[in-house]
Amino acid sequence: MKYVYGPVPSRRLGRSLGVSPIPSKTCNYSCVYCQLGRTDHFTNVRKDFFDPQEILKEIFQSVEENRSIDYITFVGEGEPTLCKSIGYLIDQAKLTHFPVAVITNGALLYDEDVRMDLRNADVVLPSLDAGNEETFLKINRPNKDIKFERMVEGLKQFSKIRKGQLWIEVMLVKGLNDSEEEITKIKDILKDVNPDRVYINVPIRPPAEPWAEIPEEESIAKAHEILESYVIAGYESGEFNVDPDHLYDEILKICERHPLREDQIKEICLKFNVRPEEIISKMRNDKSVKEISYHEKRFFVVKPKMEGKA
Ligand code: SF4
Repeated sequence: MKYVYGPVPSRRLGRSLGVSPIPSKTCNYSCVYCQLGRTDHFTNVRKDFFDPQEILKEIFQSVEENRSIDYITFVGEGEPTLCKSIGYLIDQAKLTHFPVAVITNGALLYDEDVRMDLRNADVVLPSLDAGNEETFLKINRPNKDIKFERMVEGLKQFSKIRKGQLWIEVMLVKGLNDSEEEITKIKDILKDVNPDRVYINVPIRPPAEPWAEIPEEESIAKAHEILESYVIAGYESGEFNVDPDHLYDEILKICERHPLREDQIKEICLKFNVRPEEIISKMRNDKSVKEISYHEKRFFVVKPKMEGKA
């Protein structure tokens, strides 16, 4: 599968079938905490990077093979709303009768076309990491065409027309947006957005910038109190869906989209009676694989190749 992966365990969306309608690391932000590294395809121009019919074909096929999923989730290895046909893809995916979610940075919600594209999704999960322009520039490092006030206005407008749930995610980074003052500014904006849920997240996987750290427990607790957030993020657990006949390649494929911890790789191997040491040793000798130590855990990351129409 080229565009669809999973089901993967998600802390917010249960067992989720991921759909990536854009090439790897294509984004209009370059967040300091991004688990995919710095943005190398930095764009704010929407287009069809791939043939939408090809994406749909994979969605329908994957749904047939995986009937025990909770959501079909458009997520991308970057920003999925950069895909011009995302509205069409959402509407078509809903024909499967599974709920459809979109994980987005929310930047393009200032564009009416994007708001209309996302309005039929069952759940939209935009990010809001800053309560003012200065922090926005520091943490999300947006494309020059994206202005903070416009992005916030788009979020407010979207909240009025959406048909499904709106769950906001706030990523807290130590020293950048974890003070009471910064969180209160985010809270003030959210009063006009009126989301159904607010999630606090922290950089639990190796970030684009090594200095983007997890805040102190007290700051997270304070933010939780101010934002009345739904959950505080932790390490996810659960089963990844992999083809046991191609276990090594399948693990690398997951690592392209989602850094895997050593214990997760072991868990996948043991499920299929494969010795984890063999796979992990092969990964350590594979030039496409990077091993990173972060918060006393070992992560494995694979840098994907850029694909898609130029
Ligand atoms: S975290 Fe999301 S929005 Fe930020 S740079 Fe990475 S892919 Fe883009």
